Amino acid sequence: MDTENIIDRLLELFPAAEKSELLEVLVACDGSVDQTTKLLEEQFGKVQQASFEDNSQKSLSFSCNHIEKHTVKALDASKRGIKREFSQISDGEVNLPHQTTLKQYGRNIGQMKLCKRPGKAVTLYTKEEVEKNLPDLVFVRDFLTKELASKLLSALVSKRAAFTHNKFYIAGQKCQSKHYTAIFRDLDASDTEKFIYRDSGKKNVQKFFTEMKLCAYAVEDKVNEVLSKRKPKSSYQIRKGWKANLCVSNLFQQEKQDLDWHSDKLTDIGPLPTIASISLGATRIFRVRKITTARNGGDSTIFNIPLPHNTLLVMLPGTQEKFKHCVPSVDGCLLDLHPVVGKVRYSLTFRMIRNELLSGRPKCPKCGSSMVLKRMFKRSETRGYYFWLCGSQYSGYKCRGFYYGKFDKINVPGEGLYTNRQSEATRWIGNSE
Ligand SMILES: [Zn+2]
Repeated sequence: MDTENIIDRLLELFPAAEKSELLEVLVACDGSVDQTTKLLEEQFGKVQQASFEDNSQKSLSFSCNHIEKHTVKALDASKRGIKREFSQISDGEVNLPHQTTLKQYGRNIGQMKLCKRPGKAVTLYTKEEVEKNLPDLVFVRDFLTKELASKLLSALVSKRAAFTHNKFYIAGQKCQSKHYTAIFRDLDASDTEKFIYRDSGKKNVQKFFTEMKLCAYAVEDKVNEVLSKRKPKSSYQIRKGWKANLCVSNLFQQEKQDLDWHSDKLTDIGPLPTIASISLGATRIFRVRKITTARNGGDSTIFNIPLPHNTLLVMLPGTQEKFKHCVPSVDGCLLDLHPVVGKVRYSLTFRMIRNELLSGRPKCPKCGSSMVLKRMFKRSETRGYYFWLCGSQYSGYKCRGFYYGKFDKINVPGEGLYTNRQSEATRWIGNSE
């Protein structure tokens, strides 16, 4: 009995369950139908005994390897099925001249709810298209070996309980993200106490597991290779020895789950950070636009980048400062299902927690809370100044404690990374900002 038949059978037994949920549990149980049934019974109630026996198959348990082989085969098949064609995307999508597109993707993106923001949308499919239009991004398809990508995906599925909604405050109102997040770290134990990742509130931080470590090593090698070939943008960014010691993993279980426009927080990773993400599972769109839109003198173009299973996307220094990104919902028109997890998509975003940031950041001068690092961009007179803002606003309070950021001596141990004076503050402005 193959996976598809088992899932169909499970669906008959648990009609209230979703196919992707069943697959998730089945993979988490290493393919054991008995265990899967037991787990599902806890959630959906007991089924009649011997339901599986009437199919004259006595031993239905099979190993995780079986699923992986199945996955790899299905992936190959799905790749063969994708034909590269030239096509014009309709419904408000504007293509670059001579742009190669996947017809299948084009149709689906065309059906997507269009961004409400004004400005043209451009879809970038290939490494060449992405890196030509967005030079601070690095795009690599099939980054990990197929085996590692499959194992990593299975491991993430089995850690479903670690993924929860993010809670945050907007104007004093408690809000909850639509997608799920889990945080993994690979830090010295001595740093643990100081470290609370603020992007997601006080979440339980998990340790890197074997497959994640292997993935982090591959990502580190790639990022350091890229950084070594580029001219640094500042003296205070990481230029070599970049470490993937923090992984924020996002889970999009349903097409409706999205992630709104944002830049990643700089507080623990510092100014001009590098963030590298691996996509696993279904293909979702990664959307990028300049932080300064046409209204304040920038460019409003929105770039859509489809990220298929096992794609690496590196956001090099300057990307968080100059751009915002989001993962839009793809309700009813998912680009490409994954043969094992269906419409489920994980991103693993690797960052480097910098010890200098943990030790040199200020406490709020007004209330003593920890502070968050940001960069001014709205007005051209002050654009580019880094500043620290009281973090209590993220718990619903309204303290406006403030310092400028000061990073010229970030590599000197014991130096504070803040100042009251604008004349001493660190300012970074990108090209064409
Ligand atoms: Zn404060």
